[in-house]
Amino acid sequence: MRTNTALLGRTLRLAPLVAAAVLTLPACGATSGDGTPDPSAAPAPSSSGGAGAATADQRGSGADAEATSAEGPLAGTTVVIDPGHNGGNADAAGKISELVDAGHGHKACDTVGAESADGYTEHAFNWDVSERLRDSLEDEGAEVVLTREDDKGVGPCITERAEIGNEARADAAISIHADGGPSSGRGFHVIRPGELDGYTDDIAEPSHRLALDVRAEFEEGTGQQRADYIAEEGLDERTDLGGLNLSDVPKVFLEAGNMSNRADAADLADPEWRETAAESVAAGISRFLQRGQKD
Ligand SMILES: [Zn+2]
Repeated sequence: MRTNTALLGRTLRLAPLVAAAVLTLPACGATSGDGTPDPSAAPAPSSSGGAGAATADQRGSGADAEATSAEGPLAGTTVVIDPGHNGGNADAAGKISELVDAGHGHKACDTVGAESADGYTEHAFNWDVSERLRDSLEDEGAEVVLTREDDKGVGPCITERAEIGNEARADAAISIHADGGPSSGRGFHVIRPGELDGYTDDIAEPSHRLALDVRAEFEEGTGQQRADYIAEEGLDERTDLGGLNLSDVPKVFLEAGNMSNRADAADLADPEWRETAAESVAAGISRFLQRGQKD
């Protein structure tokens, strides 16, 4: 059985995360719902105390000063990044096909993810962007936790991915994906949780705001168009994703592009584009977190 999937950003070591069973799910390619935005809510992100908050006297003392620093506009916040799928999933069909309770029906523990016609895999894209995103957020002072530690393992199940965000008491969580849509379809979309009593009713509003902020910054930063084959205006609302249903913290999924589309795939495979994408997502999360702190 797998051990803890808790991962750490360079800054922070979270206590062992509970591997409770909750389910999350990789979304790529699923159906969409109709999201009706309603921009007026303002729950403040909680500040998750403590860990990683370097004090002044810890800093400047040499090599590890950088690793413990927590200054910047996002100091005191925690962000969980969930790089969708995993590099070992394709060879672990038995494990990842196990059904887990996604909060609104059962789903597979995890899936293999999409792949471009040239063989660029979604899990590799997700991992690369997630690492870049982590670096950007840490540069702003956030504590960052990843839901997996490399791109060679299996899973974790969607339930665990959600639980990691909950255990970290993240101020915001995001699952990074690229879609496997129709080859003629282009563009990105952000998925937010629809209201599901007893599950997402407490996070739907802040997650919606997070989705709007990520959409705005991603669109502006990358120039990527809003998806023309799914979602509405680059926003989708779903109640079938365990990763969202089981989250107790504001969370969204980003489908950064369509790996099945030749033009999108060329962008996704470009390291410079991925850096821009990661920085744009970081800007969206930062906007969400900083606004929350002022509320
Ligand atoms: Zn995916």
